[in-house]
Amino acid sequence: MKLEVKDIVYSIDSKLIVNGVSLGVEKGEFVGLVGPNGCGKSTLLKSIYRVYKPDSGAAYIDGKCIADMSNKESALEMSVMQQENNVEFDMMVYDMVMLGRFAHQHLFGGNDKIKERQIVLDAIEEVGLKGYEERSFLSLSGGEKQRTLVARALVQKADLIILDEPTNHLDIGYQYQIMNILKRQKLTVFSSIHDLNVASCYCDRVILLKKGKVVDVGTPEEVFVPHKIRQLFGIDTKVTVNEATGKPNIIFIPDLVS
Ligand code: ADP
Ligand code: MG
Repeated sequence: MKLEVKDIVYSIDSKLIVNGVSLGVEKGEFVGLVGPNGCGKSTLLKSIYRVYKPDSGAAYIDGKCIADMSNKESALEMSVMQQENNVEFDMMVYDMVMLGRFAHQHLFGGNDKIKERQIVLDAIEEVGLKGYEERSFLSLSGGEKQRTLVARALVQKADLIILDEPTNHLDIGYQYQIMNILKRQKLTVFSSIHDLNVASCYCDRVILLKKGKVVDVGTPEEVFVPHKIRQLFGIDTKVTVNEATGKPNIIFIPDLVS
């Protein structure tokens, strides 16, 4: 098991937000975390990648407890892309991506500068931002910023990448583009995803979270069925097969006002 979460409990102001979550992500698997707004996805992810210290329970990478790792050690094992990226200081795209290399920098120099530079340039090209190296990060569009942050996560060269709604606020083209970039890295991916059809298209397995608890785990075919979607989101759906991808295609049936 690449990532293993054992019975994590986390409360804020004595309110249980994550209520005993256990899950596993196998090496090379792409696993989505899906659930309504406020169900605890970001809080669970933060309890895994150490922004929060769980009340009880723990997360492990290849059997090693994440809480016991040094920052550098965990950075070599996992890269993280958070939901809110409040970047306060402007910097060039190139420098922003280079930040992802921090765990690989030797304390007393000796890094191969040409190799480091190439890794950063390759990642910038991978996310389709070749030519943007000297652009100011804050001047980028939402999609370009997200892609820069994906590049920063990729240069870390960790096997496990954890993301919190990486395609939030992006238009449909960028949503699929970012997921494609992630998918073709063949890494172990654990990501919260708000769009059910995006989750259906990319995930090997999907974990459904409701009120801080895992209510279901399975392939997109297993979890994206109308009664489960209704239980989670309170909306009726018709699920067909997307002929292009072979994956479940979720069509929403809202209560229209006539
Ligand atoms: P999701 O990512 O699934 O939308 P979150 O994990 O962000 O949900 O939030 C889960 C619940 O915890 C929500 O009810 C939210 O209001 C609450 N919550 C999250 N962070 C805090 C905080 N710092 N203080 C108080 N409540 C919080
Ligand atoms: Mg969230």
